[in-house]
Amino acid sequence: MTYDYDLFVIGGGSGGVRASRMAAAQGARVAVAEEYGFGGTCVIRGCIPKKLFVYASHFGEEFEDASGFGWTLPARKFDWTTLVANKDKEIARLSDLYRQNVTKSGAEIIMDRAELLDAHTIYLAHSKRRVTAEYILIATGSRPSHNLGDCTGSEHAITSNEAFHLERLPRRIVIAGGGYIAVEFANIFHGLGCETTLVYRGEKILRGFDEHMRDSLTEAMNNKGLRIVTRRQFRRIDKRGDEFFVLTDHDEILEADCVMAAIGRLPNTENLGLDKAGVTVGAKGEVLVDECSRTNVENIYAIGDVTDRLQLTPVAIHEAMAFVRTVFEKKRTPVDHELVPTAVFSQPEIATVGMSEDAALRKGHRIDVYLSKFRPLKHTLSGREERSLFKLVVDADTGRVLGCHIFGHDAAEIIQVVAIALKMRATKADFDATMALHPSAAEELVTMRAKSYSKEPLPA
Ligand code: FAD
Ligand code: NDP
Repeated sequence: MTYDYDLFVIGGGSGGVRASRMAAAQGARVAVAEEYGFGGTCVIRGCIPKKLFVYASHFGEEFEDASGFGWTLPARKFDWTTLVANKDKEIARLSDLYRQNVTKSGAEIIMDRAELLDAHTIYLAHSKRRVTAEYILIATGSRPSHNLGDCTGSEHAITSNEAFHLERLPRRIVIAGGGYIAVEFANIFHGLGCETTLVYRGEKILRGFDEHMRDSLTEAMNNKGLRIVTRRQFRRIDKRGDEFFVLTDHDEILEADCVMAAIGRLPNTENLGLDKAGVTVGAKGEVLVDECSRTNVENIYAIGDVTDRLQLTPVAIHEAMAFVRTVFEKKRTPVDHELVPTAVFSQPEIATVGMSEDAALRKGHRIDVYLSKFRPLKHTLSGREERSLFKLVVDADTGRVLGCHIFGHDAAEIIQVVAIALKMRATKADFDATMALHPSAAEELVTMRAKSYSKEPLPA
């Protein structure tokens, strides 16, 4: 049997683009179908535009802090339309670059929606044609969930997709959720001057992160007037004119000019023809795969958000590379999901790699914890009442650093480098033997001599 392609990739996002380029570089005949825009969520509606908004939102505090250093600034004015237009220009440039790189690699680009007809046949929905491939890679990503449970009027809530293109900056915004997107956008909107309320159904935002990080960020957000309402869910959203009224399950009414749901993401597997190809999916519709990203159908693989393992860009890219090595370089390469660094781009940031204190205890480690909470040098003159927090979770028996958690400015930049040390199985003694770089915040990592406390593992 001869096929039209050696590899057909569905989705030109972070994972799909990397897989297409790498497989084409191996001499494979590759096609990649993309129905919306090259670069996918990360480039068009995720990491990159989000980070540009994060930068924009930082200026307010920077301007305030400047006066302690002798600066007097003219009255501030922020123009949302300029930010959105400049962001769109950069996103268009980047998306085009992704497209060009795929073409340069020798892979064929098909701007169309692709669906499976069977394990080797793909239907291109707009051009209404069929093509065949020996291997198929599903890299269709995810989309925001709109499911606010029993809440009526949930169609009035925007998601992160629309947040990037609002016609005007809302004066008041209410955001549902307590994860990455809710927290990041709450900080963005607050930083740009919106009256912001975050409504979270649980007790404390950022479930799964280290408790010290969650507490520190909650405190910092409260201190700057960003309202966090916990143990609440939306019951109803009413729209009257340009205004929205959110009724919570505690009968409060929150008024807003914009309501946003940031309540998780769903895998893009709807109407993809997975059933026709015999591919098994999980409860959320995620494609189920083994450690090499292979589905239950021998020639069909899936990577990235659509598999709902870790929804992060570098993870999708890593999975793409492992897939190409396994299939086209014939070197079986299981995906390594250990010690993935991650950051919440709040203000200040949380960045983390390895185990939280709770996770380490649950895994049966006896731990020593090293904590350093301090006022950043910059704020001695700015006057801002803000604290940074550095935390190391160390295995008490081996000295190995199990987790590093940082709350403070540039935490993401610092943790990327710490991740290398942890991947190399660095011990606390290795950290101690490293010379400090002074004056910096990161020097805390190598100068925390006395442990703050120890804990015994939790019973299994
Ligand atoms: P995607 O990048 O979503 O690509 C999937 C592509 O497939 C899309 O282009 C889509 O149009 C296309 N497609 C879908 N179905 C079809 C079809 N049937 N036919 C043809 N094409 C199809 N991660 C980080 O690491 N750091 C961050 O700071 C970060 N910030 C984020 C902020 C936001 C607001 C969001 C929403 C996400 C963020 N993420 C971040 C997560 C990150 O964007 C994703 O994990 C990553 O983009 C997943 O890559 P992917 O290749 O799996 O999917
Ligand atoms: P998350 O999974 O991070 O958070 C979802 C939040 O919504 C949780 O707080 C959850 O509560 C809450 N929630 C879920 N369902 C409901 C509901 N029906 N009603 C009310 N609240 C609900 O998802 P996000 O949408 O924030 O982000 C999606 C993914 O994208 C992230 O997991 C991350 O992998 C990626 N991302 C990464 C970023 C980064 O690296 N900086 C930035 C943005 C996104 P509970 O905790 O109780 O379950």
